Amino acid sequence: MQPDAPIFDPEAFRLTAQEAALAARAREFGQAVLAPRAARWDREASFPTENYRDMHANGLLGICIPEEEGGLGAGYRAYCLAAAEMGRYCGATALTWNMHVCSTLWTGALTEDLEMDAATRAAHRRRRRLHYGRILRDGAVYAQPFSEGGAAAAGTAAFGTTARRVPGGYVVNGKKIFASLAGHADFYGVLCTETREGEERLSRRDTLYLAIPRDAPGVAVEGEWDPLGMRGTVSRNLVFRDVFVEEDAALMPPGLYFQAAGRWPHMFLTLSPTYMGLAQAAYDFTVRYLRGEWPGTPPVKRRMYPTKQIAVAEMRIMLEQTRTLWFQAITEAGPDPTKEQVLRAWAAQHTVMENAAALAAKAVRTCGGQAMLKSLPLERIYRDARCGSLMLPWTAELCLDRIGREALYEKGETD
Ligand SMILES: Cc1cc2nc3c(=O)[nH]c(=O)nc-3n(C[C@H](O)[C@H](O)[C@H](O)COP(=O)(O)OP(=O)(O)OC[C@H]3O[C@@H](n4cnc5c(N)ncnc54)[C@H](O)[C@@H]3O)c2cc1C
Repeated sequence: MQPDAPIFDPEAFRLTAQEAALAARAREFGQAVLAPRAARWDREASFPTENYRDMHANGLLGICIPEEEGGLGAGYRAYCLAAAEMGRYCGATALTWNMHVCSTLWTGALTEDLEMDAATRAAHRRRRRLHYGRILRDGAVYAQPFSEGGAAAAGTAAFGTTARRVPGGYVVNGKKIFASLAGHADFYGVLCTETREGEERLSRRDTLYLAIPRDAPGVAVEGEWDPLGMRGTVSRNLVFRDVFVEEDAALMPPGLYFQAAGRWPHMFLTLSPTYMGLAQAAYDFTVRYLRGEWPGTPPVKRRMYPTKQIAVAEMRIMLEQTRTLWFQAITEAGPDPTKEQVLRAWAAQHTVMENAAALAAKAVRTCGGQAMLKSLPLERIYRDARCGSLMLPWTAELCLDRIGREALYEKGETD
């Protein structure tokens, strides 16, 4: 197959040389390595371990680790552009890669924008170096289990998973659901709430972000995994029973996650690149298929029918709208965004997640019956794309909820 064109043309979107190079690296890797294997993880609902070995060899596990620490040094936008290219070829790999990469992006480029006193920053830099070293040297993979089935992952309540300070570290107790990479990550980057003697109420201000080794005594993976889509994410439940972790397990100093969530809200937009890639994949498939050019299918052309042309035109318009809004939102990411920028970030998240599913549905209808056979990627794209709107904290519903409220009320106003 011909090499795919970039989702975001470097000249048209005025990408930096680094952004263009990283997106190209991800695209070439995705097309050559991820695409041929994607059907297998989906069919088996198995974790793409081979992909992770190859991503380590390619440097992609360290994409957001600063260059001076030995990584590829991608900032937020460079990462998003590369991640969209990965999502084009294997949704499950791109989504789990996002969980892993956030453990480096959030502790790296993002924390540089946050306030810490000098001693705290020095301790943070020393700790994250340990964790970067494991990734670059050993190919260690990190998961990001936040969800607990309640309002905590929606960002409106404290995490019920707790960490109690003990000499030398913390003791963690709790349960996470939908933990992508469960049983396959080397470390679980767990969000939990620090508890103190005599304080009963849990507070979001006391959120800790701890890297728990997979083989720490008291860690268990539970439950079945047989979902509609994103099957290769293996998002089973994790249980922590009196798990001891050392103080150096802290991926962020106490209080910093709370500061990040308030001051750097685009950190929660990082689930969207995968789905931006899936939206592009649904469109790409449709064009190739209607031209009679999809490998392994008979060279039957279907492009001459006006109804199919109109459907492709509508898909193209939706894709352009999705790409441009999303590009603007990832361009604006940074500390202390304006209200307008936050509204746009929610709108971009909602648009990508809903439009990826809509584009995939339209692709199935337009291409026709033979196109939805499991020997072709479209039906997998359709199922994977369906998952985007469900992902907390910015589900499609919560984006609508917040946009509506924030658009109508200024700070301090009530009725
Ligand atoms: C393929 C896949 C992979 C995932 N991987 C991970 C992962 O690696 N790590 C991780 O942490 N999570 C992951 N998730 C979980 C995801 O982010 C959600 O937490 C999960 O889908 C929530 O399921 P639920 O049925 O509890 O959702 P819901 O019931 O929709 O939401 C849970 C809670 O959020 C609050 N809430 C939801 N909607 C609203 C609303 N409109 N208004 C107010 N409050 C609301 C409510 O308190 C509700 O009980 C993954 C999900 C999928 C589909």
